[in-house]
Amino acid sequence: MNKPTLIFATNNQHKVDEISSVIGNQVQVITLKDAGIDIDIPEPHPTLEANASEKSTTIHRLTGKNVFSEDTGLEVMALNGEPGVKSARYAGEQKDFQANIDKLLSHLQNTPDRSAQFRTVVSLIWNDKEYQFEGICKGTITTTASGNSGFGYDPVFIPDGASISFAAMTMEEKNQYSHRKKAIVQLVDFLNQLTDEPN
Ligand code: IMP
Repeated sequence: MNKPTLIFATNNQHKVDEISSVIGNQVQVITLKDAGIDIDIPEPHPTLEANASEKSTTIHRLTGKNVFSEDTGLEVMALNGEPGVKSARYAGEQKDFQANIDKLLSHLQNTPDRSAQFRTVVSLIWNDKEYQFEGICKGTITTTASGNSGFGYDPVFIPDGASISFAAMTMEEKNQYSHRKKAIVQLVDFLNQLTDEPN
């Protein structure tokens, strides 16, 4: 099969950068911006799986093209999996990274169990059929923020096996642990096994 072309249904440039560095030149990735699509894709559902699906089907409906999306949540054990699917809007509709971190740290004050995981669900629509892939990165929530790279909760998350936060790592270092990378590797493996040509 020729190199597959996929639209990546996201407006988040950090996700585009991280995924592009994992996919390399194995897949031709077209961003929404490249495709001239300027919409705020809805995430109305109670699960990452349903939201990932909503994003890819919304863009597939608009374009008819093969597309993938991802939805990610930070699941904190002491908070029964919260903020989870609400990670982007944890502290309100403004989706403010700093306000989300402040709320998380205040909810975990005096909490000895700091264990958490990032979970990414990738939804692929290939030739009108949907497939999903999951990537998990386990780690701990720090008591103070550190590092200036990345986005979201990166300054307060240290992956298991590391001693610095995601935000203190280069993108290549983050990708050694990343939930998103694990899900995307599965997507690429799946695409490599396909024998049908794209619609
Ligand atoms: P989304 O709904 O998948 O766009 O992501 C939900 C929220 O989770 C984002 O707004 C970020 O706050 C957070 N998030 C997603 N992925 C990451 C990551 O890799 N590092 C840190 N925070 C992330």
